[in-house]
Amino acid sequence: MAVDLHLHSTYSDGSETPAAIIDTAVTIGLTGMALTDHDTLEGVPEAAALATTRGIRFIGGTELSVTWKDQSMHMLVYFLNPEGGPLEDRMGELRRSRHQRNVEMADKLQAQGLDITIEEVTREAGGGVVGRPHFAGVMIEKNYVANVPEAFDRYLAAGRPAYTPRLRLTAAEAISLGRASGAVPVIAHPHTLNLRSSEFATGFKELVDHGLGGIEAYYGEYRPALRSRIAEICAELGIVATGGSDYHGKYKPHLSIGTGKGDLSVPDVAFDQLEEARAA
Ligand code: AMP
Ligand code: FE
Ligand code: FE
Ligand code: ZN
Repeated sequence: MAVDLHLHSTYSDGSETPAAIIDTAVTIGLTGMALTDHDTLEGVPEAAALATTRGIRFIGGTELSVTWKDQSMHMLVYFLNPEGGPLEDRMGELRRSRHQRNVEMADKLQAQGLDITIEEVTREAGGGVVGRPHFAGVMIEKNYVANVPEAFDRYLAAGRPAYTPRLRLTAAEAISLGRASGAVPVIAHPHTLNLRSSEFATGFKELVDHGLGGIEAYYGEYRPALRSRIAEICAELGIVATGGSDYHGKYKPHLSIGTGKGDLSVPDVAFDQLEEARAA
C-alpha cells in the first residue's frame, strides 16, 4: 500500500487541480496523500473535503524554500492549519516577497529581450501562487525556449540573468514556527543540497534537535539505493522517512503521481508515522 506526500496543484506551480490529483491518486490505489503547494494552504480545505469524499487519507501542508548554511533547502511542513497559526501567518509575508520578486524577474526578462509580462505569467498561474515554472510556461508558449529545463538553464535558475532572490526563512525558523503551529517539518529532496549522503546524519543532527520531524527518503529523482540509505538515517535519527513524487503536472512531465519516474513507492507507514510525530 502506497501514499504520495509531495504533490503540487494549480494553487501553486502544478498544472492539475486538487480534484484531478485526488482522482488519479484514488484510481491508482494510493491510500493517503499530502498537498504541498509552495507558500500557500489555499488548496487545503477543498482537497481535504474531496479526499474525505473519495476515501483517501489526507494531510494539508506546504513546501517552503529556506536557507541552511548558505544553501537553498526545501522544507515540507505537514499538518498546517489553513485558518492560521504562527507559521501560517508568516507565509503571507513570503507570498508578498515572492510577488515582488516576480515583478523584478519579468523586468529582467524584458531587459534580456523577451517580451514576457507579469500579467501573462499571472494568467499562466491561473490564480495560484506564481512561481518560476509559470515564467517557463509563458516562455515555451512564446517559443523563446523549448521546455522547462531550458528556461531554467538559460534564464531562471540561480546565477542566470533573470534570477532574483526572495525572502526566505532559515531552516531553524521554519522548524520552530512549524512546531509552534502543531505541524511536522521535513527536509525535502536532500540530494539537492551540497552535502554527501554519508554526511546527512551528522549534518542534520542540529535540525533534529531543533524539532525536525523527518527527511524525504522516498523520492523519484534519486536511485532506490539512496532511498533505503536515507530511510536508515531517519531510523538512526529517530525521525520519519517520508516520500512523494513532487508531481507538478505539465511543468515536470516526467513525474507521475504516486510513482515518480515509474519506480517510486512510498510505504503507507510513512503516513502513520507522520501522524505520530505530530502527536508527539
Ligand atoms: P520558485 O518557487 O518560483 O522560486 O520556483 C521554484 C520551483 O521551480 C521549484 O519548486 C520547482 O518546481 C521549479 N524548479 C526549480 N529549479 C528547476 C530546474 N532547474 N528545472 C525545472 N524546474 C525547476
Ligand atoms: Fe515547484
Ligand atoms: Fe522542492
Ligand atoms: Zn516540490
